[in-house]
Amino acid sequence: MTHLDYMSEVPDECSDRTSSVYLTFDDGPNPAFTSQILDVLAQHQVPATFFVIGAYAVGQPELIRRMVAEGHETANHTMTHRDLSRCEPGEVKREVLEANRVIKRACPRASVRRFRAPYGNWTEEALAVLGAAGLTAVHWSVDPRDWSRPGVDAIVDSVLTSVRPGAIILLHDGCPPDEMIPGTHASQRDQTVTALCRLIPALHGLGFTIRALPQPH
Ligand SMILES: [Zn+2]
Repeated sequence: MTHLDYMSEVPDECSDRTSSVYLTFDDGPNPAFTSQILDVLAQHQVPATFFVIGAYAVGQPELIRRMVAEGHETANHTMTHRDLSRCEPGEVKREVLEANRVIKRACPRASVRRFRAPYGNWTEEALAVLGAAGLTAVHWSVDPRDWSRPGVDAIVDSVLTSVRPGAIILLHDGCPPDEMIPGTHASQRDQTVTALCRLIPALHGLGFTIRALPQPH
């Protein structure tokens, strides 16, 4: 198995301070929860990167425009949240390029520079497609599994015990189409919103600065 080249943490040399951490949100935009997340970020004036699902961006262009207008980064999380390791070569390319197109269509000002693989399942082939499309592969280093709704305390504690300088924190503002379970709370991200309200001041209290991901080289 060759080494797959993606970024899980921001190296010191890419950051002007060693105390930087980075917030990322996957699986939106979601009509209920993305706007609440944006409200919390605005209240604390901190930036984030949103890895959006193209199929959702089609239906929520105003949320894409709001992200960009408020200084956040929109990034690519495929068109339909397929596990790329189970896709045919042509499908990988389509998943990546279509999502780029719909984000740009929703907000021509958006510059899509980064990509995160659904389930963190990276493949050589996907990385080659990204390289050709000019996208940087971004993984994460802190994962509180907020999508599993473990409780607000568990999300906050998990982040605060594992965070360190350069950490890329994975949170979720939405739910992939194939993980929606009708009649349950599985797709709800209210715990993430409440946890974020506590996490931002707590991270500041620990001396961390929440920054935008550095420009890819
Ligand atoms: Zn995802």
